[in-house]
Amino acid sequence: MDRVDFRSDTVTWPTPTMREAMAHARVGDDVYGEDPTVNELEAMAAEMTGKEAGLFVASGTMGNLTAILTHAARGDEAIVGEDAHTFCWEAGGMAALGGVTPRPLPTDRFGRMDLDRVETAVRPDNPHLPRTKLILTENSYGAKNGYPIPPDYFAGLREIANQHGLRLHMDGARLFNAAVARNLPASEITRHVDSVSFCLSKGLCAPVGSVLCGSADFIHQARRIRKSLGGGMRQAGILAAAGIIALTEMVERLADDHALARRLAAGLAQIPGLMVDLETVKSNIIYFGLSDGAPLSAPQIADQIQQKTGILLGAESERGFRAVTHYWIKQSDIQTLISGFQSILAG
Ligand SMILES: *Cc1c(COP(=O)(O)O)cnc(C)c1O
Repeated sequence: MDRVDFRSDTVTWPTPTMREAMAHARVGDDVYGEDPTVNELEAMAAEMTGKEAGLFVASGTMGNLTAILTHAARGDEAIVGEDAHTFCWEAGGMAALGGVTPRPLPTDRFGRMDLDRVETAVRPDNPHLPRTKLILTENSYGAKNGYPIPPDYFAGLREIANQHGLRLHMDGARLFNAAVARNLPASEITRHVDSVSFCLSKGLCAPVGSVLCGSADFIHQARRIRKSLGGGMRQAGILAAAGIIALTEMVERLADDHALARRLAAGLAQIPGLMVDLETVKSNIIYFGLSDGAPLSAPQIADQIQQKTGILLGAESERGFRAVTHYWIKQSDIQTLISGFQSILAG
């Protein structure tokens, strides 16, 4: 990459190996099911998540929306964390395009909804009420420092879902960050959910794409929904080829990103005027804030960091920052960013 960019792991460029694989990918018309590279990626994704089948989609948002529209019908309701990506950052797609009402619930520091509140949020059968149909989860949990939630939480949600006949979907945009951070196979993270969508295009560095996984019957239905959303891509093997490299070569190394994030968080936490919830920094995202009385706003500081060091950083609000580590961030960049904050806040 041509610059140091902490704003997100979506900024990652594909690796040279990916570009090579893309150039030589075998392709066919995927809407006919004839792209061998897409088929290989979907089978690999299904195997890694412990599901029967996979579906290559254009983005994480398309993966989640396809899942929601497959699980739920117009007038149904989906229980979701109030700071979940599917609720906050997907353009209201479930309501706008699916007629599905979100039912947002608070989450704790780790991104978990309270199980008792989930259970009481399930609507009784009454013609006044929407039908509760779906629980939307997320792992790692983006808004809570990308916290990797352990599987027992999902086991608890599964029990509630079974009791009330609900479906359980996981927005696993950073599923492999969660798995690596927990030192578990991805299939352990996903074992309690009916469906999962994960991104190839974040820390795994592929240029485009996500895979939605679930039962063979679910994916059969999801394929039609994907087509209706405009997601039937043709010689998509060019893109899937990079996705295969992402899954074979880029998963284990996410541990390096996590180690750098911890180092960065520890360094920032020592700077007077900055606040970090160190306990929840277990993967590659750090939200941190300015304490009261800071002389500059977060956007002003991010500007100064960029002028002094060339580093790009997310200023999420007047007092909040986000830094995300990824393949193209080096150890020396961590030190440069910490020093940048030190000099700006000291002076
Ligand atoms: C990035 C992200 C998505 C959506 O992915 P896009 O490919 O950007 O549409 C969904 N959920 C979470 C938690 C994400 O971080």
